[in-house]
Order: sequence, then structure tokens, then C-alpha cells
Amino acid sequence: MNTDSLHARPRHHRKEGFANSDPTVVIGHFPWYEMVWRSLRGDFKPRSAPHKGYATFAKEWSVPVDHARIAQRQYAPVVTWLGHVSVLLQVGGVNVLTDPTLADFAGPYGRFGAPRMVPAPLRGDRLPPVDVLLISHNHYDHLCDATIAAMVTSGQRPQIFVPLGLKAWFDARDIPNVTELDWWDHADVTSSVDGRALPQPIRVHFTPAQHWSRRTPFDTNASLWGGYMVEHKPGATDAWRFLFPGDTGYSADFKTVRERLGAVDFLALPIGAYLPRDSMKSMHVNPADAVQLMLDLDAKQAMGVHWGTFKLTQESFDQPPRDLSVALKEQGLARDTVIRSGARNSDKRTLVKCLSLEI
Ligand SMILES: [Zn+2]
Repeated sequence: MNTDSLHARPRHHRKEGFANSDPTVVIGHFPWYEMVWRSLRGDFKPRSAPHKGYATFAKEWSVPVDHARIAQRQYAPVVTWLGHVSVLLQVGGVNVLTDPTLADFAGPYGRFGAPRMVPAPLRGDRLPPVDVLLISHNHYDHLCDATIAAMVTSGQRPQIFVPLGLKAWFDARDIPNVTELDWWDHADVTSSVDGRALPQPIRVHFTPAQHWSRRTPFDTNASLWGGYMVEHKPGATDAWRFLFPGDTGYSADFKTVRERLGAVDFLALPIGAYLPRDSMKSMHVNPADAVQLMLDLDAKQAMGVHWGTFKLTQESFDQPPRDLSVALKEQGLARDTVIRSGARNSDKRTLVKCLSLEI
């Protein structure tokens, strides 16, 4: 692990908690009454149902999980979207899972919080063996108690990477193998959970993002947030890079990620939870920002995540793909680069329940 950050106090480590790369963007210290009036204004639910209703939307954007296929170890990359921000990346013989949130609600105490409107494609106890679990931050739609509990109960013992300040959450549940990472730290994964040595190690980098954290009224920005780059180097020169940026507003961080870590081959691109803009702009990209982020990262291919699953924000479930088409057109990228559910792209990665973009 890279421990450069130990030698000098990085700018994003503050007495009052963690900070964004742009220190003027401070998110999370909302007065209680702001949340009340935003809730009364209807900020935290879609203004309308999708055009043909939720059931049709779910059918249109979902395909059944091919359990036999995801049970197989993969060496060439296979990416499967499991709804919201849960992505199963299978590459180099390793199964990597991001922010598993397969429960019916994203929120505390089971039934509180944002309801799921599109059924999870599988249950937490039906996942293939997960070697590496990546958690981007502690918000309830990313760190789901019920899903993690289902994984642990079903015998999963992954190597877990979390942002600084979040290991205590796992310690409190007696969940082992947790490593905290600061921005730009990296760690190498050299074996699978069953102890099989990998042909090539997989490198996991923790990357900066513009966001915030909170789990309770008393822990605002007490743990860090960010994204993960997973790097697979099957040969001496041909690195393949996957980026899951986590939740983020548009920021200069991604040009820095491109400069420091290289161009991205596959991007799990957040495209939802962006309205109303007055409160969401700093913390969640909209589709136009997302396309810019894709360009900043030189992403060869992207798949839309962080949308179409939970009732979180004002835009309807079917608005992100529409806005995305407009944003692609505005940047001169072809509209037909949007691949629909279950489509296979030219690299023959099976994309389950996904929106995928090729550029
Ligand atoms: Zn978040």
C-alpha cells in the first residue's frame, strides 16, 4: 500500500472532518429545517412515474441474471449491473463487487428510506464468491446493512476496501479483512478468496470524488468518500482499467485521475439522482456532467449506474437515459452508442440489466 499520505497531512484531512479537493465545496452540514422543507417540497422522490409506469420500466431495463454464467471465473472482463451502484466486475479470475445494495429500501432500520421500485436481479445470498468488495462511502444507498449481512451469513469472506474512517462499521459487526484507503492509496490483490494465486495481481486504487458522508446525525464527513479504479495487467504493457467513481459532483478530480492513473477502459458512470439541481449539483453529476466526466477520463466505454432503482430524487426513472442521449448529441457522440438491456457490446462483455455507452 502506498503510504505517502502518512508523511504530511493531506489537504482533504481537516479537523472538522474530511473535505473535498476543492475546499470551497463543503457538503453535508445542512440545518435540520433545510431537510424538512426539502422533503416537503418533494426533493426526495420523483415528480412523476416513468412514462409507462414502474412495472413496465422494470421489465424494459432488466434481464434475468444468468447464474451459471456469473458463477464462472472470468479472465477477460465481464461487467454485470445489479441495479443502482452494485456492479459485479469479473476480470483476471477475480470477482469484484461495488457497493452492494440489493435490499428493498435504501435507508436505516429496514423500512425507512428510499423504496426500491425495480426488483433486485438477485438476492445477497445468491452472489457468486466475491473476492473483493469495494465500498465507496457510507450513505445508505451504497453501504447496505441488510445486503452485507446476507453476504456474510451466506459464507462470503471477501477482502474489503473502504474509505478512511469506515472500518469501525465493519469491526462493530465482526466482519474481518477490511482495509481502509485514503485517496490515491492502492493495494494489490494476489489471490482469490479460496486461496488460489492469481495469474496476475489486480491493483485497486482509491480515487477522489466530490461528495460527503453521513450515517447518523453525528458523523457528518467523519469518514471519507471516493471511487475505485481496478487495474488488470494481463501482460507487461496492456493494462485494462475499470473505474467506479462512487457518488460525485463534477470536479477537476477526474482529469487528475486520468493524468495520474491513465485512461479508463470501462467506466461505471453515475447518471441519476441529479434533480433538483440547486441541492444535487455539488454531489451528483447530471447526464451532461457525466458525459464530460467520460471525456475527462478518456473512457473508452461506459455503463450508466446510480439510476432507475430507488426513489431518491425528483427526476423520473426514465429521464436519465433521455437526458443522456441529449448530452451525448451535444458532445457530438452518436445517440446509438446507448446499448439497451441485455445487449452485448463489441467486446462480448455480457451486460446484464444495463445501460451502456460506447465512445
Ligand atoms: Zn452518496
